[in-house]
Amino acid sequence: MNLRHHAFSAIFQAIAATGADRWGRGLAQGAGVILTLHHVRPQRPATFQPNSLLDITPEFLDRALALIRAEGYDLVSLEEAVLRLSQPRTERFFVALTFDDGYRDNVEHAWPVLAKHGAPWTLFVTTGFADRSARLWWLELEEAIRALPAITLSLPAGPFAARTASDSDKQRAFEALYWRLRQQPEAILLSAISDLAAQAGIDAAALVERECLPWETLRALAGAPGVTIGAHTLSHPMLAKHEEAFARDEITDSRTRLEAELGVPIRHFAYPVGDPTSASPRDFALAREAGFASAVTTRPGHLFADHANHLHALPRVSLNGLHQSDAAVRALLSGLPFWLWNRGRRVNVGG
Ligand SMILES: [Zn+2]
Repeated sequence: MNLRHHAFSAIFQAIAATGADRWGRGLAQGAGVILTLHHVRPQRPATFQPNSLLDITPEFLDRALALIRAEGYDLVSLEEAVLRLSQPRTERFFVALTFDDGYRDNVEHAWPVLAKHGAPWTLFVTTGFADRSARLWWLELEEAIRALPAITLSLPAGPFAARTASDSDKQRAFEALYWRLRQQPEAILLSAISDLAAQAGIDAAALVERECLPWETLRALAGAPGVTIGAHTLSHPMLAKHEEAFARDEITDSRTRLEAELGVPIRHFAYPVGDPTSASPRDFALAREAGFASAVTTRPGHLFADHANHLHALPRVSLNGLHQSDAAVRALLSGLPFWLWNRGRRVNVGG
């Protein structure tokens, strides 16, 4: 766990200890919140799991949904969440659940829990994952570092070398390399990770096949009650790092492709990675021009009435694998961590 996660952990505990999730609500809680989830699956045994923030267990999802119900909050579809934003706040606090990328475990492990609680959910599908052509580069990086005892890479800013013999070495190397590559143009990130994956004998397409839903299942899901399919680009790029024409095609063509494959209207969009370095005001404008009813980022925060004017830059809150506790869920639903994080600012949509 890095410093930022330690800080959040401490904030969640402090909020729980002081009961601030109750008395602080009036200050920080919005009209509702959109939650971001990735993988939902049983705990895995390995100690080197650098992407585990993307993983929660079915038991934690069950507890979180039970807690949301016990608070008397509404579990709503994304469509309903967007509708409620444009109405005055007369209704109960609402929670919309969104899952990114299109992972197999969402159907196997999350869906039964969601159905048990009568919770609608949105799955943001990257068409290139269903096609087996896009790359789960963060997973390739994890698997390569898991397999290799040491790594060397030549990068434009100079060579990167690290021992990766022990799990703690691996964790350190992953963090360092991940953040170094995130600062580079995406082509450099992808080619560096390809290089490492080749050294480790990792087959990128096999990882996508192992993790991601095929078209056949997506077609069945698209017609299922309570399920909304949204778009998440063609190839999962960090849009803000690319030329406008490329970003526009990724946004609009993913919608066209999903509508053609699934035969349902696609009205909502999620920016891959979704932080300010990956989704900028230019991209918000592109998603709006493409005709989406809403587009969601990963900028953390609750939904406030002002977001009705920023429907293509909506914040979300991650149900994070590093914080699978009731205290964390209560804190996230209170809005306080984001109020503190955003220093009292409710809408964060700038560049
Ligand atoms: Zn994604």
